[in-house]
Amino acid sequence: MTQLHPHPTLALNDGRSIPQLGLGVWRTPADETAQAVKAALDAGYRHIDTAAIYGNEAGVGEGLRASGVPRGDVFITTKLWNAEQGLDTTLRVFDASMKLLGLEQLDLYLIHWPCPARGLYVDTWRAFVRLQAEGRVRSIGVSNFEPEHLDCLVQETGVKPVLNQIELHPRFQQHALRDYHAAHGIATQAWSPLGQGKLLADPSIVAIAKKHGKTPAQVIVRWHIEMGHVVIPKSVNAGRIAENADVFGFSLDADDMAAVARLDDSEGRIGPHPSTAEF
Ligand code: NAD
Repeated sequence: MTQLHPHPTLALNDGRSIPQLGLGVWRTPADETAQAVKAALDAGYRHIDTAAIYGNEAGVGEGLRASGVPRGDVFITTKLWNAEQGLDTTLRVFDASMKLLGLEQLDLYLIHWPCPARGLYVDTWRAFVRLQAEGRVRSIGVSNFEPEHLDCLVQETGVKPVLNQIELHPRFQQHALRDYHAAHGIATQAWSPLGQGKLLADPSIVAIAKKHGKTPAQVIVRWHIEMGHVVIPKSVNAGRIAENADVFGFSLDADDMAAVARLDDSEGRIGPHPSTAEF
C-alpha cells in the first residue's frame, strides 16, 4: 500500500496556511462529488476546491462528513459567482453556499472572476472583508485577477487577497503574474494544473515520468509543488485521485525542471482572458 505523506502547507499573508495540494471539483457531477471528496480525504488530501457555480457544494459537505476526518483538519474553498457580485448579494449568497456545504465557517472564499466591465469587484471585496471580520470566513482571496485588478483592490480597501487562483500549467506558465504575486506576498494557486488532461501525453512529460517510474500526472503535480504553487488537480476516479497525491516520495532534477520550462507557450491559455471574460 502507498504510504500517505502529510501534505505540505504554504503560509498565507494573513497568518494562516493552506495545504499545497487539494482536490478540484469543477465538472464533477453533483451526485459523484461526495464519493470523490471522501476518496480524496481517505487518500490524505486535506483541501477541497469548489465554487457556487459548480453546483456541487452540498456533495463537498456530504463527502467531508462521510470521511470522518475532523472538520478542523480540512481546508474548504468556495467561490462567489460573477452574477452575484456586489455588497448585498455577496452577503446573501455566501450564506447560501454555507448552507449547502453544511459549514459554520469557511476556510477560503474567492471572487471567481473580476468581470471588470461590471465594476463590482471592489464592492464584492468589501463584503468579503466584512465576512472575514465577522469570523464567517478565515481567509479571503480572488481568482483570475490580473495585476491591475489586484492593485485596485488594495488601493480601494487596503486589504490584500491571500492568493490568486489562476490558469497555470506547463503550457501556460504565467511568469509575469507569478512575479507580481511573489513581489506582493500573494500565493499562486494553479487551476487546470494538468492542462485539463491535455498535457499528460506530452513527450517531455512522458519521458520524465518514465525516468522516475511515475505517471505523467504525478510529474506535473510534482512540478507545481516544486514551483511553490497551490495545486488542485481534478478527478472523480478514486485511483487517479490517490495517484495525483502520491507525489511526495520523489523530486524533479534540474534537467526535468528545464524540460518543463521549455513547454511554456504564450498562446497556451485554455480558458478566457480574465480582463475580457464576462459570463
Ligand atoms: P485539470 O488540469 O485538473 O485536469 C483534469 C482532467 O485530467 C480530468 O478530466 C481528468 O480526467 C484528467 N486526470 C486527472 N488526473 C488524472 C490522472 N492521474 N491520469 C489521467 N488523467 C487524469 O483540470 P480542471 O478540472 O480544469 O482544473 C482543476 C480544478 O481547478 C477544477 O476542478 C477547479 O476546482 C479549478 N478550476 C478553477 C477555475 C477558476 O476559474 N477559478 C477554472 C477551472 C478550474
